[in-house]
Amino acid sequence: MASVCVIRTVRELQARADEERGRGRRIALVPTMGALHEGHLSLVKLAHEVADVVVVSLFVNPKQFDDPKDFERYPADLSEDLALCEAHGVDVAFVPDVAELYPDTAASWVEVEALTDGLCGASRPGHFRGVTTVVTKLFHAARPHVAIFGEKDYQQLAVLRRMAQDLAFGIEVIGGPIVREPDGLALSSRNLRLGPRARAQALVIVQALDVAEAAVGEGERDVQRLLDRVSAIVGSADQATIDYVELRDAESLEACAGRLEVPSVLALALHFEADPDGQGESVRLIDNRVLLPRGGA
Ligand code: AMP
Repeated sequence: MASVCVIRTVRELQARADEERGRGRRIALVPTMGALHEGHLSLVKLAHEVADVVVVSLFVNPKQFDDPKDFERYPADLSEDLALCEAHGVDVAFVPDVAELYPDTAASWVEVEALTDGLCGASRPGHFRGVTTVVTKLFHAARPHVAIFGEKDYQQLAVLRRMAQDLAFGIEVIGGPIVREPDGLALSSRNLRLGPRARAQALVIVQALDVAEAAVGEGERDVQRLLDRVSAIVGSADQATIDYVELRDAESLEACAGRLEVPSVLALALHFEADPDGQGESVRLIDNRVLLPRGGA
């Protein structure tokens, strides 16, 4: 098995990218913050399908954390991540340190307006500015033809598509489907921080998404009724508080009102508290489902 090449500087990655491009090879970039799980690895598999060279970045981006505690607690196990990259045929792991991407002199930011106003943008000030800035840096470093992001972070995917288009990066942005635990909870490195009781309660998220999808399948089109049903289900978990439960146009992310007429994303974010016996920590989880109101009802 060819071993994964670990690159730590932008300059070296650019040189490798130029070399690969010169040989006519297509490059795919999968940006991650490490702590790799099957969700990330599904994006790597997709990358192999659409490109010849797969670059995975492993960088916990301090600029996208609105909560410093969340940043400090973010799990990191580089040797485990590199072993997973190796096992999944990743060609290059890009592992810059913070000073490599944010030298003290750095004064430039990339911002996408409008799409970042609501949902996670509203509850995590500065988050998307951190994401779009770091992804721009990664794009310039890896010079990919295609970049792959998960639909788990639905708003992030929409923001990055817009950024790539607005700023004419010439990079195709592809979304990969959400990978779930056997019981339906979307994979996230944060799941491990839930106490056992909170972990069990987190299934309200999946129940709510399933109920909404089934209701739309049966002809429900009333946006408020759908949101009320979802809120009632997630509200039944006593360790959860709702950050947001929203229905938005699946493309423009504009809020849906009245009747559901177009493909729409049901997006939710919940905070789970530590268990009453002190197990676990406070964790924020997000998830979503695209609802397709086909035909008339
Ligand atoms: P992160 O390391 O959390 O920044 O995630 C890196 C990439 O993996 C992002 O594009 C995420 O949307 C994607 N991702 C995270 N969890 C999942 C999942 N359960 N299914 C699919 N993609 C995911």
